[in-house]
Amino acid sequence: VPVPNIRNFSIIAHIDHGKSTLADKLLETTGTVQKREMKDQFLDNMDLERERGITIKLQAARMRYVCDGEPYCLNLIDTPGHVDFSYEVLVPNCNLVSRSLAACEGALLVVDASQGVEAQTLANVYLALENNLEIITVLNKIDLPGAEPDRVLQEIEEVIGLDCSNAILCSAKEGIGITDILNAVVKRIPPPTDTSQKPLRALIFDSYYDPYRGVIVYFRVIDGTVKKGDRIYFMASKKVIPIRIFLPVGMYADAELFFLFCQQQDYFVDEIGVLSPNQLEVDELYAGEVGYISASIRSVADARVGDTITHFSRKAESSLPGYEEATPMVFCGLFPVDADQFPELREALEKLQLNDAALKFEPETSSAMGFGFRCGFLGLLHMEIVQERLEREYNLSLITTAPSVVYRVNCTSGETVECSNPSALPEPGLRRSIEEPLVKIEMLTPKDYIGSLMELAQDRRGEFKEMKYIAENRASLTYKLPLAEMVGDFFDQLKSRSKGYASMEYTFVGYEESDLIKLDVHINGEPVEPLATIVHKDKAYPIGRALTQKLKELIPRQMFKVPIQACIGSKVIASEALSAIRKDVLAKCYGGDISRKKKLLKKQAEGKKRMKAIGKVDVPQEAFMAVLKLE
Ligand code: GDP
Ligand code: MG
Repeated sequence: VPVPNIRNFSIIAHIDHGKSTLADKLLETTGTVQKREMKDQFLDNMDLERERGITIKLQAARMRYVCDGEPYCLNLIDTPGHVDFSYEVLVPNCNLVSRSLAACEGALLVVDASQGVEAQTLANVYLALENNLEIITVLNKIDLPGAEPDRVLQEIEEVIGLDCSNAILCSAKEGIGITDILNAVVKRIPPPTDTSQKPLRALIFDSYYDPYRGVIVYFRVIDGTVKKGDRIYFMASKKVIPIRIFLPVGMYADAELFFLFCQQQDYFVDEIGVLSPNQLEVDELYAGEVGYISASIRSVADARVGDTITHFSRKAESSLPGYEEATPMVFCGLFPVDADQFPELREALEKLQLNDAALKFEPETSSAMGFGFRCGFLGLLHMEIVQERLEREYNLSLITTAPSVVYRVNCTSGETVECSNPSALPEPGLRRSIEEPLVKIEMLTPKDYIGSLMELAQDRRGEFKEMKYIAENRASLTYKLPLAEMVGDFFDQLKSRSKGYASMEYTFVGYEESDLIKLDVHINGEPVEPLATIVHKDKAYPIGRALTQKLKELIPRQMFKVPIQACIGSKVIASEALSAIRKDVLAKCYGGDISRKKKLLKKQAEGKKRMKAIGKVDVPQEAFMAVLKLE
């Protein structure tokens, strides 16, 4: 297909507004996927994604479409659609959405005609506008009796300032308006510019690890051409390979030295092809086209989203803009319940990392918890997904400690250290001040919930910035707020306080000094490091009280009395006690029927799976997360 007949576009939509349904219909209508081989929602193809209704990895699909007798090639590049995932990708430029939009000339803005514009949609539309994309407004679900296309169109015009006079009314479910959309893609979205003569520059918008072929890289050729056998080079990734040199014992204390080498990343293209949507080999791809390569790349960290591919012998002068490494913002400890599973946990993390460039981990030892790992994630959903995969796919039973943000500690020595583990915070005498990360958060809400959401934000140390009405009944609230206050149940609170109607979006704005202290927890007289948290000074007392009460509820009673204390340094600020339990749990089943007894034993065994013995006390998983859910 000649370049003037190519169209590259993506779909911007809030969760549940119908992106997957529409994508499926486009594939079906263009005959790309036959109806009988069509699994529901072709674009979401990981089990976990399907279950949670989210798209974690973006995908692409090439469609053939004939318009006015002329054949066209339409490339749909999907973007992750779940608010939980996109709102937490904090560094705007490494945002997956932004990279997939940068690979397109246009986007479909899909809005549910019975709902309206949401915070996430807004943020992504602005990204699309920044990338100079042509936006086609699609009102979906017009088959619903509650659809109010006029109201929603007016809202889009007012809030975003888009001209909606040629918006398309559609029902992805009923198949209404689908050819109008395909025709609009051809007629309104500009073709790519033909820059095939220039040195190769291809934008990586996704990559995944295949155990047989190595990393598969999804890209859009911006300039030049690329074919099988080419020697290619990644412009941003510089791989650092540690090489161990063993020295004769006695020469150095450690008898082992580490040297770091920087290596240029060049590879030979083993396979190149298009996504239709299954991988289909081709000989060569030209400027404007979208496809995949495999080149014996060992880990996704070597071919990162946003990086530029060029030729080794004819390098482009500059890489494509917008590459930034994903930095983990949230850290937690992962410990195997059974200490013997430590090597398996390491292996599983290494395997996951092959496919997840943003996942970081290093060994962590704690006297209370034994051997485990301190892991870094982009945000909470990322953390939950990794945990869930470790348990489901690798059969590990884990204890997760409460997530923490990364603090900057200015020490009296003049040094500044980063601290992502409250129990490792330098002693008060060694630190001058602590800085914490702040975010700007925008909430969109029907006006009835404004008061309740303002209360929530203020409660979480939020600093009010702005409120505007974006439509008659809807307002936008902007706050500056510590990231630490968002980690936990903020999103759940937002949803429950607004009966599910509010949405939010946040971006990292920087570090600021704050009056923070470490709150320790002692159980049975012993400090339990993984329960330590960093809190604002003004909140230490109420948090200490609530935390000890909550722990008292969560920790099962033992055969002896167990004191639970919250402390600042050596000062106890709150204290509770678990009274001793005398009878065996089974005692109350004496005389009862055997199946009931079995059930109780089974329940105990299940409970036991997620307990960690701290000294003589068994502490359940929930207790480690208690600090996130205090009233
Ligand atoms: P996504 O989260 O944006 O990918 O949304 P989905 O495509 O998964 O759709 C969310 C829900 O809306 C599903 O239950 C769909 O069946 C439903 N849905 C999608 N499009 C339409 C439509 O045009 N009309 C109606 N009535 N329901 C739709
Ligand atoms: Mg979907």
